[in-house]
Amino acid sequence: MSEPRLSTTCCIAGGGPAGVMLGLLLARAGVAVVVLERHSDFFRDFRGDTIHPSTIDLIDQLGLRERFDAIAHSAIRTLDVVVNGNRLTPVDFAHLRGRNRSIALMPQWDFLSLLAEEGSRYPEFHLLMGAEATGILRDGDAVRGLTATTQDGPMEIDALLTVAADGRDSTVRRAAGLHPRDYGVAIDVLWFHLPRTPVNPPDTLAYLDSESMLITIPREGYYQAGMLIPKGGYPAMQRAGIEDLRARVVRVAPFLADVVGSVEDWQQVRLLTVQVNRLDRWWRPGLLCIGDAAHAMSPAFGVGVNYAIQDAVATANLLVDRLRRGAVDTADLERVQRRRLPPVRRMQPLQLRLHSVIAKPGGGGFLANPMPWWQRAAVTAALPILRRVTARIVGRGFRPEVLGPQLHPH
Ligand SMILES: Cc1cc2nc3c(=O)[nH]c(=O)nc-3n(C[C@H](O)[C@H](O)[C@H](O)COP(=O)(O)OP(=O)(O)OC[C@H]3O[C@@H](n4cnc5c(N)ncnc54)[C@H](O)[C@@H]3O)c2cc1C
Repeated sequence: MSEPRLSTTCCIAGGGPAGVMLGLLLARAGVAVVVLERHSDFFRDFRGDTIHPSTIDLIDQLGLRERFDAIAHSAIRTLDVVVNGNRLTPVDFAHLRGRNRSIALMPQWDFLSLLAEEGSRYPEFHLLMGAEATGILRDGDAVRGLTATTQDGPMEIDALLTVAADGRDSTVRRAAGLHPRDYGVAIDVLWFHLPRTPVNPPDTLAYLDSESMLITIPREGYYQAGMLIPKGGYPAMQRAGIEDLRARVVRVAPFLADVVGSVEDWQQVRLLTVQVNRLDRWWRPGLLCIGDAAHAMSPAFGVGVNYAIQDAVATANLLVDRLRRGAVDTADLERVQRRRLPPVRRMQPLQLRLHSVIAKPGGGGFLANPMPWWQRAAVTAALPILRRVTARIVGRGFRPEVLGPQLHPH
């Protein structure tokens, strides 16, 4: 017996920021989409919570601002880092122009739920949760849909355009024979939760010293903490014992001494492998890769979610008319890559630079405590420039996208 078959205009593998946003934009503009998400809900491990001003601008454009604001989140205008005990403020979004001048730290599952809920208002939006893309359907050289396992069993989905938005380990990309070039980051991150302390210091992105770097993302009631470790160093950390991890936390961020005991065993710790890579070619006939499937971003500057969303907006802007007409050719797909590759090609080297200089275990060793006069002078001179640069490249990005008139609701 042949497998059940669905037919749609655009089939998207992956219900992350890139996939759900693209699905929403196309369905809203009257194009039939099927989005497959292999998990049965959006509620899972830490995947990046930072929603930058350029993305909040899009939320405004989509008319979702009131519902966005109603979701519990922290709006952060400045961010500190503590380098060897010296508190610095290298990020200040007050330098941005425009209405939105802060980062929203919102759990990604809430953000995705908002986009999916909005999508469900449009009859052309079909989000299949618990549906995993397993391979591609081919017509000669061209991709013409996906095979999937769903909660109701195996399925085939025919599509004019297939989009791989299934993240950095993309199954669809691999099935299409596309392989990213890796740029090698020498770190991994151990993520865990720490309760908020009774007296909270100002919002602080990270604590660094000559041994460790600890990320402390403030969330409602707790910190999303991330300890940077050398790539492949997790087994050695485990052998040293959980108390060794706790001791490192306290050495680099002494204010956490009273709460670090809540991390009792390795079950509470999640390893995330950091990657920076990208495809030379983001497409094959009938198939386009976007988001991390086209270019995995490291956590540095927290831009990955925002770049994934900008890819989705550019894709919708450039392809919606072609999809409506039922004709998408390789020149159209190449146009998406030409639009989005430049910002990725500028940001990834900055991430790699940040990792090689400071965002690594022991990266805080370059500042003494107390700072000698010449370090204090250098920091005082550099910070105002740094604040402007980070506000611009982090908050807005190199090529912020806006919804084109062709994406107006049908
Ligand atoms: C440790 C770490 C911390 C990070 N922190 C931040 C941060 O603070 N801010 C930030 O902006 N970015 C951060 N990033 C980067 C960010 O998480 C990604 O760049 C971003 O999530 C990419 O979005 P995406 O939609 O392309 O892919 P993903 O978010 O990876 O989404 C892909 C989706 O596809 C689903 N999927 C996978 N395979 C299949 C399949 N075969 N079939 C169906 N569904 C499938 C997955 O379940 C997932 O929901 C971080 C990354 C790492 C590694």
